Amino acid sequence: MLGFNLEDSSDVLYNQYKEKLRVLDPKYHDEVHFGYFLVSDPQFAKTIKSNIKEGWKYLEKSMKIPPTILINNYIHGASNIDIKRPHYKEKKSGKLHCYLCEDALAESVIDKIKFMEIKCNCNTMVVHTSCANDFIMKYSQCDICKKYYDVNQHCSSLRDIL
Ligand SMILES: [Zn+2]
Ligand SMILES: [Zn+2]
Repeated sequence: MLGFNLEDSSDVLYNQYKEKLRVLDPKYHDEVHFGYFLVSDPQFAKTIKSNIKEGWKYLEKSMKIPPTILINNYIHGASNIDIKRPHYKEKKSGKLHCYLCEDALAESVIDKIKFMEIKCNCNTMVVHTSCANDFIMKYSQCDICKKYYDVNQHCSSLRDIL
């Protein structure tokens, strides 16, 4: 997690934080402050350990300034505590999902469809056009790498870009 190890005690984390500020170039300090802000939040530390979708959603609601994109990335990769979900997932297997919502983008990678690609230095999201528009209205810049998103519309099969 941004160079911090959550297994370490809070004293160790604090010392690492001070050390990073001492040795790293000031242009990385924002990232260090941000990383420490997250790992020193007990709720965040708990959530990252359990890595459950519901936990991340709760965290997003409970944090004053939630790092939304980071949390969304975790939600995307997290497991789900709803035991009915695996069935739902099986049914949808083989379809390609929008990064930002639960719906499929296409039935298969070879179908020709319209979709958007949102890119920064740390992530590429392949999403519905409407999802992309909503997203870009809210976030123009990545929380993590600070790059302004590149947004490209595609009208092709997913296979052509993935
Ligand atoms: Zn979508
Ligand atoms: Zn980024």
